[in-house]
Amino acid sequence: MQNRYNNYLRRQMKDPVFTRVTKNTLIVGVSLVVVGIAGLLYVTNSQARFHAAPPASAPSPGTAASGVFTYDSTKKYIYLTFDDGPQLGTVTCFNLCRAEAVKASFFMVGLHANLKSDGREIVNMIRSAYPRVTLANHSFSHANNQYLKFYHHSEQAAADMFQAQQSLQVPYLIARLPGNRAWVRQGEVKATSLARPLARLLDSAGYNVIGWDLEWDFNRKSARPVQSSVTLAREVDSAFIKKNTHIPNHLVILTHDRMFRRPGDSDSLAKFIRILKQHPDYVFETVDHYPGLKKLRP
Ligand SMILES: [Zn+2]
Repeated sequence: MQNRYNNYLRRQMKDPVFTRVTKNTLIVGVSLVVVGIAGLLYVTNSQARFHAAPPASAPSPGTAASGVFTYDSTKKYIYLTFDDGPQLGTVTCFNLCRAEAVKASFFMVGLHANLKSDGREIVNMIRSAYPRVTLANHSFSHANNQYLKFYHHSEQAAADMFQAQQSLQVPYLIARLPGNRAWVRQGEVKATSLARPLARLLDSAGYNVIGWDLEWDFNRKSARPVQSSVTLAREVDSAFIKKNTHIPNHLVILTHDRMFRRPGDSDSLAKFIRILKQHPDYVFETVDHYPGLKKLRP
């Protein structure tokens, strides 16, 4: 099963360095990664100091001087989220959101950051670009894509989430479960019976968990988007009108970075964003401003 996940990673990343890795070199590699992380912590801390804007001097629109986010009741909030990075497509999504001047959130996977040759660099780039984008936790192992086993061992699964938080240096206690939609906010734990034990553990540890209202589906073989940008934009309108969202007037869209690695498909993402931007009531926000979250910092 582990090999199956490694094969999956090779396909997704097409990283020639990783494809040459054998079992033995993997053991040596893991040791080196441990030493490397210690060094990286020093370097990234220095970089964070260098890049981080003082929070008080760069408040997000809607953030009062007190730091409390206020919502405009005439607006509808869209949280565009990208899962599973860093992987092929992450930088494209990041650049595109910057070019279109829309906010977005990246739920990233610790293991992917370690295995992709420029993974750490990409994670640092996302973290440093706040408040335009928010870095959030999407587990360390992505359950090795063995979801039943992952959720049946909730203590280990929680440890996996904590490992990602530390390894990716996620600034906020915001996570998304791998392969499972759950919500954990102040006074709320909503999850399937399978994921509920993990959701409760994360709740006790102070985490917020963000699910999604609408998914941009992708072909499981090619990872290419299923709905056209026009169809998906109509689905957004309809979800708001029918109040078919977890919270009225707030809509979380799930997409995956790898869906947009081809130019034709990143054009679809750009088109989708441009259609939504034409709507006078729509506002793009990052998930740290989703309503009802618990304290965001440990
Ligand atoms: Zn995922």
